Amino acid sequence: MNCFRLENVSHRYAKATVLHGVDLRLEPGEILGLFGHNGAGKTTSIKLILGLMKPSEGKLSVLGGAAGDPQVSQHIGYLPENVMFYPQLTGREILSHFARLKGASLKQVPALLEQVGLDDAMDARTKTYSKGMRQRLGLAQALLGKPKLLMLDEPTVGLDPVATADLYRLLRRLRDEGAGIVLCSHVLPGVEPYIDRAAILTDGALKAAGDLPALRRQANMPVSLTLEPANGLAALEKVIDGTGSNAGLMIKSDNGRLLVDVRPEEKMTLIQALMRSGEVADLGIHQPSLEDIYVHFIGSGGLAHRGGSQ
Ligand code: ADP
Repeated sequence: MNCFRLENVSHRYAKATVLHGVDLRLEPGEILGLFGHNGAGKTTSIKLILGLMKPSEGKLSVLGGAAGDPQVSQHIGYLPENVMFYPQLTGREILSHFARLKGASLKQVPALLEQVGLDDAMDARTKTYSKGMRQRLGLAQALLGKPKLLMLDEPTVGLDPVATADLYRLLRRLRDEGAGIVLCSHVLPGVEPYIDRAAILTDGALKAAGDLPALRRQANMPVSLTLEPANGLAALEKVIDGTGSNAGLMIKSDNGRLLVDVRPEEKMTLIQALMRSGEVADLGIHQPSLEDIYVHFIGSGGLAHRGGSQ
């Protein structure tokens, strides 16, 4: 059973269509990064999966049922962006309140607060909490009732690097226990090692989806090689010229080394020629990162959006 499946889903608000034929699924035991500039359609997708509104077109199933069905919703945890809590209540009181609303056991309240690192602050009023602490209380709220599907909107905003690493560790554990997790973000640095698949949305259309190797294949971006010459730059450049793959190459020298951008399909031919020549003392290979791929798919329009204030 999928955690969710969108098939050719489009959504239209009063004035404009903001999702266009999106196909996307999440399996149990998987962390999906849903990335896109502000206004790309991430929140709209989440609202559809939560059943807060119905898609204008296409098919959507959530945990084997219909989005918004109470039997389905009770297995979903959701952390919205910018969580706010009643300031006079303590963390423990707030989480107990949400547990009652959700029909979850009150017994898990202290354990969850401990799990998100609020054990020392659970009896302090939330008006004394930092943004990161409120974010962690929001996460504890999302984890109530051990959800099968967990959706987190910008979960690391306000967290320091240690708390961010703790959060990702916790998400991995939940993933390994079988939860399907969506991380929605327009901030990419640092997230790559923690997700199993990424989906990149631009202007309501899914530009690419898959694990990192699949995204690299879809992007077909150059691979960068850093070459340390064994016997001087000129001899090394001659070897590269001799491979006849110049059409796919961009070469520049940097501090006595050569930086070479090569098309993925020519990478192995070039590396084999370089190894055979004996002209390389050292070799570094830099594959495009998730961030590089994101910028590639989102293009300059996306970069302009990224400065937005939402
Ligand atoms: P993201 O979460 O990626 O920033 P959203 O899903 O919030 O994107 O927004 C996608 C588009 O839909 C944007 O152009 C936004 O202005 C528009 N939009 C969002 N919510 C509404 C709404 N309630 N009514 C009309 N337009 C909306």
